[in-house]
Amino acid sequence: MTITEMAERILAGDRRALARAITLVESGRADHRAQATELLETLRPCGRQGLRIGLSGTPGVGKSTFIESFGMMLTALGLRVAVLAVDPSSARSGGSILGDKTRMERLSRDKNAFIRPSPSQSHLGGVARRTREAVALCEASGFDVILIETVGVGQSETVVAEISDLFNLLMAPAGGDELQGVKRGIMEIADMILVNKADGELKPVATRTQADYAGALRLLRKRPQDPEGFPKAMSVSALEENGLSTAWEEMQTLTNWRREQGHFDRRRAEQARYWFEEEVRQTLLAQLTTPGPVKDRMQALGGQVATGQTTPSAAAQEILKTLGMESG
Ligand code: GDP
Repeated sequence: MTITEMAERILAGDRRALARAITLVESGRADHRAQATELLETLRPCGRQGLRIGLSGTPGVGKSTFIESFGMMLTALGLRVAVLAVDPSSARSGGSILGDKTRMERLSRDKNAFIRPSPSQSHLGGVARRTREAVALCEASGFDVILIETVGVGQSETVVAEISDLFNLLMAPAGGDELQGVKRGIMEIADMILVNKADGELKPVATRTQADYAGALRLLRKRPQDPEGFPKAMSVSALEENGLSTAWEEMQTLTNWRREQGHFDRRRAEQARYWFEEEVRQTLLAQLTTPGPVKDRMQALGGQVATGQTTPSAAAQEILKTLGMESG
């Protein structure tokens, strides 16, 4: 299949072409990279846009249950839903594979849903690019909503927040002490906190937890991209499918407001700029750390610096020269 054919099929909503294209953007091979770049350039003018919803939470909080129920609700509304995952491999060993279809059986059989498990790539920078490009492919393919799932560990949440239009945190019902363990930085990037498992015996705890989060969110500095009442804490039951349509309504309210106020487009523009700069940074860094002449030179010069044969800045200048860069 040529790149032009692949692009045409993606635009026509062909799922197999979409899956193949995502495999292409995941590949580390130089020729695949060139093809992926060409494909994305070909699709760029189509101008299709989906709503990108990030979802994070610790293993066991109910992410797959939520994505399945929420996804089914959206497809029942006539929307096409894609599910992608950002999975830092360090977190992989213990838990299940994110975006694994067996975790979302009903949704994976839905013809209006597309689920893509996370690739086994170790480097978060590479995962970020792959996910960003997979999002673009899903949008070109006509998906209305793109759910991007990650586990609540470290950097992956920031990556997902920088790819999403909306970022949701899924939390478990918890006591007050556990609440304080939630990192402030994570709270600051959340648009909605959804306290899951608000059913059965856990319901009263979930309601209290929701109130606690709502209180904590009110203490944060107001962000220009939020209308009155946001960020918001809500309780839901992914299992009993309660509160999901309300959550969706709130997401739409927030999105519509941001669109009207220009925040939506502005945010996407900032994200594009961020990823461009990040890619330059990562590519430069990769030159220093991947085996090759530059890395060898780093090692050799590092030894000279350590033994006082040269100064750190003189050695640094030399590396920059090797990279073909003039220093300021
Ligand atoms: P993930 O690791 O975050 O994807 O979590 P799962 O979706 O696999 O759910 C972990 C466990 O929590 C499973 O046993 C689910 O059945 C259960 N669970 C998920 N959502 C709910 C819910 O809304 N209520 C209750 N009571 N249990 C839930």
